[in-house]
Amino acid sequence: MTKVRVEHVWKEYKLGKQTVKALRDVSMEVGDGEFIAIAGPSGSGKSTLLNLIGCIDTPSRGEIYIGDEEVSKKTPDQLADLRARTLGFIFQTFNLLPVLTAWENVEYPLLYRKDIPPRERRRRVAHYLVLVGLADFAKHKPSELSGGQRQRVAIARALAGHPAIILADEPTANLDSKTGESVLRLMKRLNRDEKTTFIFSTHDHRVMEMAERVITVSDGQITVP
Ligand code: ADP
Ligand code: ADP
Repeated sequence: MTKVRVEHVWKEYKLGKQTVKALRDVSMEVGDGEFIAIAGPSGSGKSTLLNLIGCIDTPSRGEIYIGDEEVSKKTPDQLADLRARTLGFIFQTFNLLPVLTAWENVEYPLLYRKDIPPRERRRRVAHYLVLVGLADFAKHKPSELSGGQRQRVAIARALAGHPAIILADEPTANLDSKTGESVLRLMKRLNRDEKTTFIFSTHDHRVMEMAERVITVSDGQITVP
């Protein structure tokens, strides 16, 4: 039952003497199992919003709830634990470790999970590599994979931790449109079959159309269509 609630959130960045208001009084809610796009032009505040929901950064004002847990009241250790148990991340630049194989990239975050014994860890890596269609590419390093394959490794890595919510910051931005659509279709299938909530940002209209619901951000505010 992991609903996300963002309540009257402001985010300001200090740049020398200037203050950039990246988010201004943003409120939104994402229900369990949704497949939702955060849309808006470059610089509108999409990454900032995802980073706040993902507990990578903290709001200047306002509250964020992951389930019934209010994020700002947590210690850094509690936050790290919440992130590891509840959230998975996918980035536009894939963020794979270049010296590791696809298998090792998927396995890597699980090595830090005391609650996942080695057998279960290996079972999950194998399972998710199959699920994203990369069973035959387990021994390939990122440089030996196509862009779409790299993003599918990143998706397997995010899923292997069994997060309730996957946050994807422009997951198709570095892919051609055909590959981007196939990655989105994969995410949609996983949303349906694994019941994982997906929140992804995009400025691509064709990608937006694949969402169940679109939240539009413009100049740091949510705009009602
Ligand atoms: P988007 O993801 O929609 O491109 P961002 O959330 O990255 O938008 O950025 C929103 C605004 O906040 C932009 O004006 C951007 O320049 C600014 N910004 C983002 N991150 C920082 C930062 N770390 N320091 C200063 N300004 C930032
Ligand atoms: P995807 O839609 O999975 O991203 P692409 O259309 O990019 O796939 O590539 C088609 C196929 O070509 C891949 O499934 C893979 O077998 C092969 N391929 C592409 N680039 C590479 C590479 N750098 N190394 C190995 N195989 C590759």
